[in-house]
Amino acid sequence: MKDCLFCKICKKEIPSEIVYEDKFIVAFKDIDPKAKVHILFVPKKHIQTIDHLDLGDEKLIGALIFAAQKIARKKGISENGYRLVFNVKKYGGQIVDHIHLHLLGGQKLKGIV
Ligand code: AMP
Ligand code: ZN
Repeated sequence: MKDCLFCKICKKEIPSEIVYEDKFIVAFKDIDPKAKVHILFVPKKHIQTIDHLDLGDEKLIGALIFAAQKIARKKGISENGYRLVFNVKKYGGQIVDHIHLHLLGGQKLKGIV
């Protein structure tokens, strides 16, 4: 997608602090962190929201979660725990219309559900 912020970050057209990358995923530090550790895991394929997923995207979404597990361990936040969040559309608080998984941790987080 030409005008998508996260597509541009994936293609390195916009700078970001990348912490992980493979063939299908890029993970980078959130520019406005809401916790000591706040990393976004993004599929390189442009998919707008979780509501736009198709059959066949299961592996990709699973890969996002496994990448988050790996980076959480690497950052040393696994033992105490962390939060993984997908905001979905307007009521879910999604601002960037390209699927991203938030990894939040490194501190005790307030409950939201
Ligand atoms: P959401 O509200 O779920 O759409 O989350 C979008 C997230 O992207 C927010 O936490 C923003 O702080 C973050 N964000 C926006 N622009 C950038 C950027 N250029 N680099 C890194 N993170 C960004
Ligand atoms: Zn995109």
